Amino acid sequence: MRNWWKGRKYILAAVCLCLLAGAVAPRPAKPAVPAKPVQQAQGVLQGITILVDAGHGGTDGGAIAPHSGTPEKELNLKVAQALRDELEKSGARVIMTRDADMEYSRNKRADLTARLDLARQENAALLVSIHMNEYRSQKESGPQVFYRAGQAQSRLLAGAIQEAMVLELKPAKARSAMAGDYFILSLDIPSVLVECGFLSNPAEEKLLLTEDYQQRVAQAIRDGIADYVSLQIVETNTVID
Ligand SMILES: [Zn+2]
Repeated sequence: MRNWWKGRKYILAAVCLCLLAGAVAPRPAKPAVPAKPVQQAQGVLQGITILVDAGHGGTDGGAIAPHSGTPEKELNLKVAQALRDELEKSGARVIMTRDADMEYSRNKRADLTARLDLARQENAALLVSIHMNEYRSQKESGPQVFYRAGQAQSRLLAGAIQEAMVLELKPAKARSAMAGDYFILSLDIPSVLVECGFLSNPAEEKLLLTEDYQQRVAQAIRDGIADYVSLQIVETNTVID
């Protein structure tokens, strides 16, 4: 009994010392320059859940690259996987709608609904759907980001990604983000659909098939997302101050 109490006494003493240390420790002076937001110190995307959707999959190959015969679904997955790696390096929690050649349903609407359900279940803060464009003219080129009309935050996110892609990929045609009516953009979280380039343009098809360019595309999308998120942090801080 006495030994037990002796042990308890030391524990109590240690607890008291800790409390005392906390009580007498000088409060740090308020820095003249505002400290960096925690998110930046740990990676600007720390703690943010992002749904990355590799468009199409399974029996739905999407567009077919005319010269190589490569289906869009393969390129979408490669860019989506590279994007996931980049986002995770920045601290984001990434949910992939698919990490292999699969589909949720052969019914297109049911397949897309399952992808949206995943975003809801995982409480995603942002949604990025990856696609490759095609057009009847071979001349059309350049990445193009879409958002749903009337969604202000989606428009900002699309604009930030579009800007980063133009800046970093230097496409021959610098496009602007555009409103587009896509079912995958129907959630009320900031959502964008990124057409990484035109498979119907022979030079762009060649580029999009290379791992190096896929990596650069992923990097640019990540940078655009980070720019958008940083802007939100700055605006939030401004409101609080
Ligand atoms: Zn597509």
